[in-house]
Formats: sequence, structure tokens, C-alpha cells
Amino acid sequence: MSEAEAAVAAPTGAQESAPPRAFATGVAQDRERLRAAPLRGRPRPTRLAAPIQTLRGAGPRLAEAASELGVASLGDLLWHVPHGYRDRTALSEIGELRLGQEGTVLAEVRSVRLRPTRRRGLTILEATVADASGPTKAVWFNQPWLAEQLEPGTRVLVHGKLDRVGFKVDAHEVVRDDGQGDAPTGLHTTGIVPVHPASGRLRPQKVRDWAWQAHGLVRDAIEPLPSSLRARRGLASAADALAAVHFPADPDQAAAARERLAFEELFLHQAALASRRRRHDVARSAPPVDAPGELTREWIASLPFELTGDQRRATEEIDGDLAGEPPMQRLLMGEVGSGKTVCALYAMLRAVESGCQAALMAPTETLAEQHFLTLERLLVGAGLPSAALLTGSTSAARRREALGHLATGQLELVVGTHALIEQDVEFARLALAVVDEQHRFGVRQRAALDAKGPGDAAPHTLHMTATPIPRTLSLTAYGDLDVTALHELPAGRRPVKTWVVGEEKRAGAYEFIRGRLREGRQAFVVCPLVSESDKLQARAATKEGERLAEGEFRDFEVGVLHGQMKAADKQRSMARFAAGETQVLVATSVIEVGIDVPNASVMVIEEADRYGLSQLHQLRGRVGRGEHPSACILFADTEAEAATIRLEAISSERDGFKLAEVDLSLRGEGEILGTRQHGLPRFRVATLPEDAGTLLRAREEVLGLVRRYGSLEAPELGPLMDAARLRFGDERAEPIAA
Ligand code: ADP
Ligand code: MG
Repeated sequence: MSEAEAAVAAPTGAQESAPPRAFATGVAQDRERLRAAPLRGRPRPTRLAAPIQTLRGAGPRLAEAASELGVASLGDLLWHVPHGYRDRTALSEIGELRLGQEGTVLAEVRSVRLRPTRRRGLTILEATVADASGPTKAVWFNQPWLAEQLEPGTRVLVHGKLDRVGFKVDAHEVVRDDGQGDAPTGLHTTGIVPVHPASGRLRPQKVRDWAWQAHGLVRDAIEPLPSSLRARRGLASAADALAAVHFPADPDQAAAARERLAFEELFLHQAALASRRRRHDVARSAPPVDAPGELTREWIASLPFELTGDQRRATEEIDGDLAGEPPMQRLLMGEVGSGKTVCALYAMLRAVESGCQAALMAPTETLAEQHFLTLERLLVGAGLPSAALLTGSTSAARRREALGHLATGQLELVVGTHALIEQDVEFARLALAVVDEQHRFGVRQRAALDAKGPGDAAPHTLHMTATPIPRTLSLTAYGDLDVTALHELPAGRRPVKTWVVGEEKRAGAYEFIRGRLREGRQAFVVCPLVSESDKLQARAATKEGERLAEGEFRDFEVGVLHGQMKAADKQRSMARFAAGETQVLVATSVIEVGIDVPNASVMVIEEADRYGLSQLHQLRGRVGRGEHPSACILFADTEAEAATIRLEAISSERDGFKLAEVDLSLRGEGEILGTRQHGLPRFRVATLPEDAGTLLRAREEVLGLVRRYGSLEAPELGPLMDAARLRFGDERAEPIAA
């Protein structure tokens, strides 16, 4: 205890005669003053849980509107930060305001009157207000009740704009001082005025008023950043940052506060991911897998191609993972055709080579079947380990047989859908699981797969996704996984010539396609995206198929494919196209995944401006897979700027990761990933890619703390993990015991 603190503490014994002194000023304190001093207790975070309705002016209706904006509690309100600020620091004099100019004036009301109008529902309140430079006519619309408030002699701060009818007021505040002290300040009219995200039912002014009422509660906010970290990075306290973000002294302070809060948010999220990963690492170990041996070596040598540099790196990283005790948790990210399956197969063979089993799970039957075919084709050089396909369509007899062989270990490789993780599926020794399109499986499904490991062991898991996302985003979306990206396309893949054209080119485009068809190639026609319903979408595809079959492509066979078709019909349609029995396939975006027809060399996408960039890129990936030069024709008539940027990007860029970055900057992270599906949180302050630098710093700090303390739960780190769990929950956590 310092001397000063000792002095403030209740004096005892020998000190009894000395009067207590104030901490900073050293002024002697008498009993009365001490009684009157404000009570400063410890922060009470529970106070932030109080509903918004505890504020003045927050009734049930507005509270509901607020909850639509994600603001239910006072704590939510503190984190509901302004998206902009109005600089109203300088007061204007009435005499200097010019027509069209905005400003805040401090004036006295001289007279007020309600002006009659003919329009129903319109009232105009006029007041003559004046300052030392002279009078002006202030005008309020539809607020007749203000007449009582604005009695002559009242001093008001009014913010608005001078136009021909007068000074149109958009915010005013009555000043209740005596006019003697400093210039009065208003919440809405002077200083740096925050503008919070609001809605039609909840005006920004209301939110500002609430934020002002609540801002004292910042003292009750948890400070989750360890003090050593704050000191090293020179970061303000959570309380100061929360206060300053709403009511900053100047614009720089607002920016610094926002950045501090974004850092906290990203830091807590990274902490949640790191701790989740660590829990998974230590909860269970994976079955040991031997070092790479003959089988995989010979298999690689037998492939009709060389692995790309990226693929080689991926297999090395997989080798590294399999050598460790914690189960592999790797995500292999690369667009369609980048050669993921080959890498996955490598991992599977490593397991088989060690006398274990491997499984590949895909989200749809079509994908599972395709993987199975690829697997059989690619495994010819591996002396064909025993493999089976297991989906919902597998006959009961075959299923029984497969399950029997899986349980005895006789069956080494299995490819399937969710059917693989059903209760009665037992593996003798599952060492490796591959999950394709991993974001389409939920936590529970992945946990069920984890539980298929032998005894207490969890299988090594390789996740795959064909949606390339920029690195910064993958750190948030997949921060608990190790990520390998396949950028290079395998040799032999040709760039797809891409044109964006208007209606005037339609006849020419069909002529071009007929030319390719006559040469023996095939074509896709992708129908416009109908977002309202799958049914309408299906109908559009069917209609377009008929139109083309009778018109432009009457000399060719035209097939149709859409999501509403029965599984068997879909398969038939795809098989016919793959076999070349149909030359044109009119489809909805269901072909985005799952079709591999190297002979298809042209794609038409209708109303391409309605598709997102990643989606266009995925669609386009269906052509250019064979030896023939390929083309993609995008029909679009658009003036919209974002669409123009998208279409320009798609026609000039073929790297999916680069396109994803463009997409990210155009649409923001939530749009790109489909937030919930990917377990990506909606950040309240941070945005990507803008805060990418902050994210990298936050991640670095988290990893540094893990290195230094071994665990983020270390007592030195204070309430860090409590705050992280409070904020981000455990929604993607894998259960420790299955
Ligand atoms: P993905 O799973 O990423 O869509 P695949 O592994 O299925 O990609 O590979 C796509 C196609 O490219 C397959 O026909 C595969 O045989 C072939 N392929 C894979 N790797 C290479 C390579 N390094 N060189 C040439 N062709 C390759
Ligand atoms: Mg594949």
C-alpha cells in the first residue's frame, strides 16, 4: 500500500489523529466529504446484462426494433458502435449562415407558431430564433408538440440547414443553463456527434440518446486484454475505448477507439479458436501412422502426371501431421480441379499402408459417386486396396456386406455420404477421414466421424473446400485448422476465354456455340439465378431447355438439369451428358459442383450480373478441363457498379484466390461465406478485409501468449478466456468425449 492509499484507508491506532487525505491531491478529508464521495466499486459486468428497456425512452416497441439490430442488453448497446460521426464542433452565427449551408447555432426563441397547412398529416412549426447576429426562421416538420417546449425566451441549440423556407431543423436541444458559463453543449447538436446504425423504426437520434444514458456503464465492461499486452501495444482500457468510440473528443480518438475494440474482438475470437484447437489436440490422440512406404511411393510414381509444387507441399504437410500424435486437423483449400482429391488420396493411402482404414465423406451422393470413380481410376497404380461406396442409395445387401467388412478391417477404403457416420457403421481401425466440402457438415456430423476412431483415438482429419478464400478470412473462418492452399492449376488446364456480352451479341453467340458443337464439343447453358425459390428456378431451366431445343439448338440433343429433379433423373441427365448423348446441358447452378466432362468446352451464363464472383468462377471451372480451347460467354446488361467490377474481374483473372479477394472487398466477409454455415462470427466492430492488419496482430499475440504461458487459461491472463467464451461461445467446438 502506498502512503497515499494508506492515508485514504480507514486510519487505525497511531494514525488515528492524522486526518485522511485524498489520493491524488492530498487535500485533507473530513467526514462529510468522505460520505459524499462517489462509491467506486469493482466493475459489475452483470449490470451490462440488463435489458435495453431499463433506459429512459425505451419501450417495448423500440426495444424490439433494437433487438432486430442485435441490441438487446445494455452491453450490446455499448458494442453497437457508431458507423460515422458528424463534426459539429464549431457553432455558427445565424448571420454568417449561407443558403444551403448546414450548421449548429445557439439562439433564443422569440416567437413560435404552428402554421396551418392543407396537406393532411403535415404540420409545420415555425419559430423565430435569434442570436447576437440577428434572427432567422427555424422550421420543424410534424412535431407540433414542440410548440410548448419552445416558449419565447428559451435558449436552444439547433442543428440544421438554411434553405429558402428557413432554417430546417433536424436536431435541437433546449439549453437549461443561465447563459453565464462556457458555451453549452448538446448531445445531438454540438461536438463530434456519433451516428449509430439504426433502422426505419429506430432513429439514430434515439440510439444516440440511449448510448449517452448507458455510457457510464463502460466501467462495468470486462477488461479481457492482459495488462502486459495492453502495456506493450499501448492499448487503451476497454472502458476508455468504449466511452470514446461513442463520444470521442475528436475524430482521431474515435478512430483509435474503434481500432482498439476491433483488436479486442479479433483477439478474443483468435483466443477462442486457439483454445478450441488445443482442447482437440490434447483430448484424444490419433492412431499412429507409419512413415511413408512403398505403397504410396509407387502410387505417386504410377500417376500419369507429376504432382504440382503445391500438391507436393500439401503431401509434405500431411506427412508432418500424420507423424504427430494429435489428430491432423488440416484444411485443403483449392478450387475445383486444383488436384485436392489426389492429395486426399495420398493421405488415405498412407493410412492403408499402415494397416489402417480411411474414409472420404462428401455432402451429396453425386459427389460421393464421383469421388469413388476418381479413386478407382487413380488407384490402379496402388495395387487397388479394397474400396467401397456407401450412400443412402446403397442396397441393403451391399450395405450389410460393407459394414461387415469395415468392422473386420477387411475393407480398407470407403467413400460415402452421411451414411458413413450412422450409428451402426463401425470401423476396425479408422486412421484417416477426409471431409469434402467440409462447411456443409455440422459440428455434430464431424464429431460423429471423430468418434469412429479405434478405442479412444480420433482419426486424422483432412477437410477440403473448393471455395478459395483470402488468407485473412481463412484465419477467422478456419482459424482452428491448419490450412494448405492449392493455387496452381495442374498442367494441362487451359485458361477459359471469357467474354462479357450484351443482348446484341446473342445470335452471334449461339452461332459460335453451334460451330463448337459441330466440331464435336459440348456446351453448358446456365440459367438466370432465381433467388426467390428453387421451384421457379427449376421451371426457368426447363423452359429455357425447351426453347433452345426447338430453336437455336434444334439440330442437337439438349438435356436439362436442375435441383428439383429426382436424384435418379439428375443422374441420368448427367450421365447422358457425360456420355455425349446430349450436346447441350441447360442447367441451374447445381452444376457448380460435381460435373467433370472434359469434352464440354463452352459455357453460357445468363444474367451473369446476378451471380457472385466466386460462383461465376466455380461455374466457369466446369469448362477448360480437357484438351480443347474453352470459352465462357457471360450475358449481362448492367449499369450497376459492383456488377461491372465483378464481370471485369472474372473476364481478366483466373486465379480463384485473387477473385475471392475482389469479392471480399466488394461484399464483405459475411456475404462471402454465408456466416452461419461457416461458423464465422459476425463481428460487431471489426470488418474484413479492412481490419486484416489488426487480425494478423491479434493472431500473433494469441500465439505468443500460448507459447509463453502454455495455456490461455493461465491465471496471469485474467478473464481472457471467460470473455472469449462469453463473446464467441463454443459453437464450433468438437465435443471432448463423444
Ligand atoms: P479437385 O479435387 O481439386 O477438384 P482433382 O484432384 O479431382 O481436383 O483433380 C482434377 C483433375 O486433374 C483430375 O482428373 C486429376 O486426375 C487431374 N490432376 C490432378 N493433379 C494433377 C497434376 N498434378 N497434373 C495433371 N493432372 C492432375
Ligand atoms: Mg475433386
